[in-house]
Amino acid sequence: MRLILLIAALVLTPFAASAKEAQRPVTVLIGIDGFRADYLDRGVTPRLSSLAKDGATGPMRPSFPTKTFPNHYALVTGKRPDRNGIVGNSMIDPRRPGVMFSLGNAGQALDPFWWSEAEPLWITAERAGIRTATMFWPGSEVAFGGTRPSDWLRYDQNVSNVQRVNTLIDWLRRPAAIRPGFATIYFDTVDTVGHRFGPDSPEVNAALAEVDARIGELVDGAAKLGVPLNLVIVADHGMRATDDARVIQLDTLVDRASYIAVETGPYAAIEPITGTDDRVAKALLVPHEHMTCTRKDNLPERLHWGSNPRVAAIICIAEAGWTILSGPPQYPVKGGAHGYDNADPEMLALFIARGPAFAKGAKLEVFDNVAVAALLRAALGLPEDADADGKLADVRAALK
Ligand code: AMP
Ligand code: ZN
Ligand code: ZN
Repeated sequence: MRLILLIAALVLTPFAASAKEAQRPVTVLIGIDGFRADYLDRGVTPRLSSLAKDGATGPMRPSFPTKTFPNHYALVTGKRPDRNGIVGNSMIDPRRPGVMFSLGNAGQALDPFWWSEAEPLWITAERAGIRTATMFWPGSEVAFGGTRPSDWLRYDQNVSNVQRVNTLIDWLRRPAAIRPGFATIYFDTVDTVGHRFGPDSPEVNAALAEVDARIGELVDGAAKLGVPLNLVIVADHGMRATDDARVIQLDTLVDRASYIAVETGPYAAIEPITGTDDRVAKALLVPHEHMTCTRKDNLPERLHWGSNPRVAAIICIAEAGWTILSGPPQYPVKGGAHGYDNADPEMLALFIARGPAFAKGAKLEVFDNVAVAALLRAALGLPEDADADGKLADVRAALK
């Protein structure tokens, strides 16, 4: 009898079950906004450098436009902005006349209408029975077909990086049954400081060191809990120095009242107001010294952008380091910016994959960021999405 009880206790003990469960790796996607690929070589990010050495790394080409929302959505959908529907940080849509989507306008930015053209990975995972949790990521606050991550938070830039990491560690501390299998975390500080002070500033180096320390705390925290992590650490784009001396003022070319400037900066998305099309086109669709303007259907094929109805009629792309303005700038031009042609080496973004699913010491050649979704799916045991723009083959070297 005693023997039977002992055997039953051994079989049924929750400790044995949870110890086994605790070994199941959690896939964590870390986004460091504006972490240019070569920032990793500055010697100010020891924890990231060691993760890169222990895992797979290489420069990653962002999608065009090299802006925050289009690229964050490309990373989690495997589709480029033209096909994921987030074609810019600001957008208009002929099906929503008079309305502008913009990252700062919560009323529009949280409307599922804008986000429903491609399925983000947290939805695919939830539907496959993998619990997900998002400590910020563009699009994660929006219900997709009525589904959301099991845990998610409304974006608030004032939540400190320490708080973000602590929240994620709290999720990892949960019992296996309610612990996420896939989680995201997002840091904006490197981008914020990069805009304000420029990519070569001591302020950027300080921001890099701070985020590096936070990621170190996340790695150490998970190790202490005995939860293995498959970490995929990425940026959405790089950063390039800008200056007031390198400005293209659209006011000198065409009357501001004749078009809507959907976006300006390293590229401009220009929608002529009905009835003035000719005037705007005549002024813009000619050679300019420091920018190239084309109709959306004439953009170079390699940009894979322009067929979505949300892309404005005329697109001007500035020469690297130049800024296109329509009227007075909304923020100081001098500093740093992104949004340039994705062939610009200074737009290249950070990529590191480290954990039991990934190869050790692999160095990847430049690859397109849409492949990251395929890599994450592989780490999560989900089948490859044949409809995605990114292919697992492009990042196979990162997999164990
Ligand atoms: P960008 O203007 O392309 O440099 O975008 C970076 C900005 O996007 C940062 O200042 C962030 O605060 C902001 N941001 C990042 N994620 C979100 C989000 N989920 N909702 C609203 N804003 C965000
Ligand atoms: Zn960004
Ligand atoms: Zn930015």
